Amino acid sequence: MKPRGPRFPIGLDRVAPGAQAPGVTQRPQRPVHEAAADARRRSAPSGLGLDSGAVRARMVQRLRAQGLLCEPVLQALEQVPRHHFVDAALVAQAYEDTALPIGHGQTISKPSVVARMLALLFEGRTARQRGTLGRVLEIGTGSGYQAALLGLLGSQVISVERVRPLHDRARTLLQPLRRPNLRLVWADGRLGHSPNAPYDTVIAAAGGEALPQSWLDQMAPGARLVAPLHASAGGGQVLMVVDRTESAWVRQVHEAVHFVPLKSGVA
Ligand code: SAH
Repeated sequence: MKPRGPRFPIGLDRVAPGAQAPGVTQRPQRPVHEAAADARRRSAPSGLGLDSGAVRARMVQRLRAQGLLCEPVLQALEQVPRHHFVDAALVAQAYEDTALPIGHGQTISKPSVVARMLALLFEGRTARQRGTLGRVLEIGTGSGYQAALLGLLGSQVISVERVRPLHDRARTLLQPLRRPNLRLVWADGRLGHSPNAPYDTVIAAAGGEALPQSWLDQMAPGARLVAPLHASAGGGQVLMVVDRTESAWVRQVHEAVHFVPLKSGVA
C-alpha cells in the first residue's frame, strides 16, 4: 500500500518550534535551530498570534465582507498558508491584501485578486457548480501559491512557468504539500500544455496583448478561461472571461487589473 502523505496543507503553524509535523520529513542538512527559527518566523506572520490559521481566517473574513461569497474559494484560501510562499523577510505582510515580490521581477498576486479570479471560474457553469474546476491549466506558477489553491479546487492541475528559478522554487515549496494532482511544467505558457489538453479551466497570472490561440484551442467545450489582457495596444489591462460553448468562444470584459506581462520563451 502506498504510504499516506500528511494532510494538506501541512499545519506548519501548528507545529511547536523545533518539533516536526507528523509525516513531514525534515531536510537533514539544515541545523535544527535554523529550522526552528524558520518555523517561529512563519508561525507568527503578523505578530498578532502564534497561529497563522487565525490570521488567515481574518483575511478570509475581510474578503467575505468585501462581497466575495464563493465558498469553495474561501475554504481553499483558509487552508493554504500564503506565508509559506513569500520570502522570510515578507512573512509579516503575507496576509495583507497586497502583491509581494517573489524575485526575478515577478510578484505573488494580491489575495483579493486571486480570490476574484477563482470565484469567476466557479460562476455560471455546470461542472463548476459541482464544486470543482476539473482539469486546470495555470499559466504563471510564480510562487506556487495559486497552484496550491488550484490543487484543492481542481481534479488535475498543470501549472506552467517560464522562469526556471521560479519553477524550481515553487517545486521545492509545493513538495511538502504532496498534491499528486498538481504538476509543474517549465515552459513558455503561451503555448498552453497540449499533452494534457483539453482543460475545463484556464487561468493566467500574466497579461499580453492578445489571448494566445493555444489557450482557446485547449479549452474543452464548457470550459472557462480567466486572464488579464491589454484591452488596447499600450492601454491598461482588464480581466477577461472566455466561455467555450460547443460552437464558439464567448468573451466578457471585467474590471481593470494589473498583472505582470506575459512574456515569450523561457528564461
Ligand atoms: N500565480 C502566481 C503569480 C505569478 S506572477 C502566484 O501565486 O505566485 C506571474 C508569473 O507568470 C510570473 O512568475 C512570470 O514569470 C510568469 N509568466 C509570464 N509569462 C509567462 C509565460 N509565457 N509562460 C509561463 N509563465 C509566464
